[in-house]
Amino acid sequence: MARYTGEQCRICRRNGEKLFLKGSRCYTDKCSISRRNYAPGQHGQKKTKLSEYGTQLREKQKTKSYYGVGEKQFRKYFEMASNKKGITGENLLQILESRLDNVVYRLGFGSSRTQARQLVNHALFEVNGRRVDIPSFLVKPGDVISVRESKKNAGVIKANVEENAAKPVPEWLEKNAESLSGKVLRLAAREDIDIPVEEHLIVELYSK
Ligand code: SF4
Repeated sequence: MARYTGEQCRICRRNGEKLFLKGSRCYTDKCSISRRNYAPGQHGQKKTKLSEYGTQLREKQKTKSYYGVGEKQFRKYFEMASNKKGITGENLLQILESRLDNVVYRLGFGSSRTQARQLVNHALFEVNGRRVDIPSFLVKPGDVISVRESKKNAGVIKANVEENAAKPVPEWLEKNAESLSGKVLRLAAREDIDIPVEEHLIVELYSK
């Protein structure tokens, strides 16, 4: 019997696609989607056609899973996005990308967003020289995110930096591997965000 690999893989299987929630494991043949690409549960292998509402709901759940955000906070981000100038769906993704845990992951200091969130929680990072341990902290252009001096030798940081040395950093960020820091050059635009989400479906869902 295959080894149970945890809730996060179930989320991918439920969505029928890789959401890359577990770091390097997602790129190996141990990925649950590679081995069992059907929904979990007794009726998981049954083909079901989703309603319009179901499709919109799934897109929202998928986006929440990508960024590890709960319903209440996601709703708050949606309100913020609606109140900003521009396209609401794109604004929503931009806000999610600006979360400190996501930035830590994008800079390669965390192997996954989940791990990046834990590292931020454990106060391994500072923003503009001040310790920040809130994963939902929203960065802005000009902010400098660094591994705190006392944490630079942490094994997990060293391992992630080494593993992600060749991983490209999005154009809206600039990484300094030597000083273990990164700078926000601008906010992320839609074309910078590589997650396969149809954000307009989320807007439609919340606009009902
Ligand atoms: Fe699990 Fe990662 Fe594969 Fe998703 S992509 S099923 S989180 S190993």
